[in-house]
Amino acid sequence: MHQVELAGLTVDTRHSIGGQRVASAETFESISPIDGTVLAHIARGGAAEADAAVQAARTAFPGWRDLGPTGRGEILHRLADLIEANVEALSQLETLDNGSLLRSHRRGVMPRVAMNIRFFADWALNELSHPVWQTRGHDNVVSWDPSGVAAIITPWNAPLMLATWRIGPALAAGDTVVLKPAEWTPLTASVFADLCEQAGMPAGVFNVVQGYGAEVGAALVAHPGIARIAFTGSVPTAKAIARAAAENLTPVSFELGGKSPLIITDDADLDLAVEIAVEQYDNAGQVCLSGTRLLVHESIADEFAERFAAKAAQIVQGDPRDEATQIGPQIHRVHLDRVAGFVERAQAAGAQVAFGGGPNNDLGGLYYRPTLITGATPGSEILTAEVFGPVLAMQTFSTDEEAVQLANATEYGLAAVVVCGDRDRAERLTKNLVAGTIWVNCFFVRDLAAPFGGSKKSGIGREGGVWSFDFYADVKNTVYAPSGWKE
Ligand code: NAD
Repeated sequence: MHQVELAGLTVDTRHSIGGQRVASAETFESISPIDGTVLAHIARGGAAEADAAVQAARTAFPGWRDLGPTGRGEILHRLADLIEANVEALSQLETLDNGSLLRSHRRGVMPRVAMNIRFFADWALNELSHPVWQTRGHDNVVSWDPSGVAAIITPWNAPLMLATWRIGPALAAGDTVVLKPAEWTPLTASVFADLCEQAGMPAGVFNVVQGYGAEVGAALVAHPGIARIAFTGSVPTAKAIARAAAENLTPVSFELGGKSPLIITDDADLDLAVEIAVEQYDNAGQVCLSGTRLLVHESIADEFAERFAAKAAQIVQGDPRDEATQIGPQIHRVHLDRVAGFVERAQAAGAQVAFGGGPNNDLGGLYYRPTLITGATPGSEILTAEVFGPVLAMQTFSTDEEAVQLANATEYGLAAVVVCGDRDRAERLTKNLVAGTIWVNCFFVRDLAAPFGGSKKSGIGREGGVWSFDFYADVKNTVYAPSGWKE
């Protein structure tokens, strides 16, 4: 009754707390966006489950801390091995639950999930150098001490990938974890808890609580027993979490939304520009980093628009399990309606739909057509608010200064993309763009050692490499005097 068989896996529908499966009196449905099938009835946690999970994680903390990077690394490598052994099943399960492409999960996302664990385990072991420098003959010795329980709250658009991007460094740093996955995509997190157990992770080191953000999520982030909050999601939720965190002064790491620009200069390779522009529809536009504002030099705008429309018309939309599919469904009816609302309001405000616009009625269900909006008024909603669907808006510019000014004209600063034929010109452009990550003549190249995060309303803090450990650990400086030692 508490387990369902899906994608060849046994998925437990309960919380995982202190190594035990724990049910709740109420449940909620996990629905597949592919065809509306109810996949499972998941435990709907609240304050009691959040408290139990934090207590379990606190109890497990000293043992996990004292294992040190070597002991923890052995377990984390076994966990990564288990993820790799289950790539196919995890890929199928994630596709069922969130509608992302199966082939992307198989070839990129799930191997990366394993890498998120392996990379940070190795970093803790090999790369966290303990710099020593002298002040008036005294040694300063820096260390990264485990800090306690990390509460990790994640969204639905890349569930296990985004969860492990936080879990990997938190566990490697010696913290214990309580994960609250998004209620629209609860399944792979539950399987992940089983894999942690199989890897030999002590009970309570990794816990999962399931349920709604306003219930179990709010209770978790307000808990005085947590040491860190890592949140990936929307700006309104981040504000609620920041208010809760303020009460206990709990440090936060926020990775939030975006409205990133894609600048195409007049000397750009147009084939490359079109290719990169089409990539912004990946995952049906449900990608925080997407360059959703196409800023195109006015002298090439017509040619670009024509070639882009032709290329976009070839995009294959359909069942995300089919190898040929390039774009799947939106995650949920509520979200589809939200995306449609943005386009309708843009049209009502005088913008044009150059192509797409509206659901793909041939497919039924939750499929929204790749869409391009033109002629929107500067400052209008479609140019400033995050749609989080397959909807791009195009504007033109005449000078590079204007391109930068348009690019920076939102409250977000997550990413920016530049397609440009001249390296010096690209460097001048990128210097003035406000963004946590900028890609030049490429998109989505990510190194786990590089800093990642958002400027302005797109986030607080950076993670990746040592930046992750700076957040999850208590960074400590110990000063040793040159004298006072007995021979
Ligand atoms: P969301 O903010 O609605 O929900 C995210 C998570 O927060 C969910 O697990 C939800 O249950 C939980 N939550 C909601 N209210 C809460 C509360 N009061 N207290 C604690 N937890 C609460 O976001 P979403 O719709 O799931 O995800 C889409 C958003 O995530 C977009 O804005 C997207 O840009 C952003 N995102 C950012 C990144 C990044 O790395 N910057 C990556 C992916 C997604």
